[in-house]
Amino acid sequence: MGEFELIDRYFRSAAADMAGRGDVVLGIGDDAALLEVPPGRQLVAALDTLVEGRHFPRGSPAASIGHRALAVNLSDLAAMGADPAWCLLALTLPQAEAPFLEAFASGLFALSRQHGVALVGGDTTAGPLSVSMQVLGTVPAGEALRRSGGAPGDLLYVSGTPGDAAAGLRLLDSQHAAAHQLQQRFLYPEPRIELGLVLRGIASACIDVSDGLAADAGRLAAASGCGVSIEVSRLPFSGALLDAVGAAAALQDALCGGDDYELCFTVPPQRKAALEARLANVKCRVTCIGILDESHGIRVIRDGVALLVDTRGYEHFSGKG
Ligand code: ADP
Ligand code: MG
Repeated sequence: MGEFELIDRYFRSAAADMAGRGDVVLGIGDDAALLEVPPGRQLVAALDTLVEGRHFPRGSPAASIGHRALAVNLSDLAAMGADPAWCLLALTLPQAEAPFLEAFASGLFALSRQHGVALVGGDTTAGPLSVSMQVLGTVPAGEALRRSGGAPGDLLYVSGTPGDAAAGLRLLDSQHAAAHQLQQRFLYPEPRIELGLVLRGIASACIDVSDGLAADAGRLAAASGCGVSIEVSRLPFSGALLDAVGAAAALQDALCGGDDYELCFTVPPQRKAALEARLANVKCRVTCIGILDESHGIRVIRDGVALLVDTRGYEHFSGKG
């Protein structure tokens, strides 16, 4: 199978189904795509790369690789409060194997359909397995959420149950029932697009949690010129996480594990009621876990005592990963 046959068979036809969006003037097949940005809106762009053996283990299910390539990018758009619209895929493959490509495309398109995102272009090359995805979306001009808008006194929230994905990755080979749930959280993260949209006009700052809750909350706080404290007793642990790893490891995973793709955001106390009213229409769980203050850095508090936690999160080229 040649490059063009591969593109036609696995990507072009499925993408054509999705071209129901009126804003794709020209999709896959020309030298570049032509897209219509609605008047009064700003374009929001994000790109993330997944490398085999680095961002997902060798031998991961191909459907999961396709899902995650889009999901991690949609998560970045969610953190900006953006409506996702289009994506471009750069796929590097050791060889063109039909079963891999079919499963990869099914994982990718299941999620793209769910969020109404059209695949409008990309690039296909031979080499070690790596997937880059660019996602484009829009926000009403001036309304994007940023990391930098928080102020001392703003309440800190997180969606979902952080720590599950990190434990799921560690327990990928386990047959334990609780481990299975956690594995799904790593393999098929759910980008919090709906929540991001609801937070426009409510949240003062927002970030998506990809490198660990403590590290990413710390980044939000730093960008906002604040310190942050997180109260351990408020952290939302899933039953599966507590079951599979116990309380001590669950705390470590929730604070320092990665790959959650939850949203961490701040809300001024006077908008708390407005947040709660809007959350009535959002499916995912949202929990207040702490507060921004006038200090610097991050403190994790248990029973009034600050814990020592590694809040650096995952960094490439740090000698750690
Ligand atoms: P060019 O050589 O002009 O860059 P290509 O031959 O790389 O074009 O690609 C042909 C068309 O197929 C382009 O519209 C491109 O965006 C699209 N395309 C290539 N690879 C992919 C892919 N993996 N997924 C989606 N579209 C792709
Ligand atoms: Mg060209």
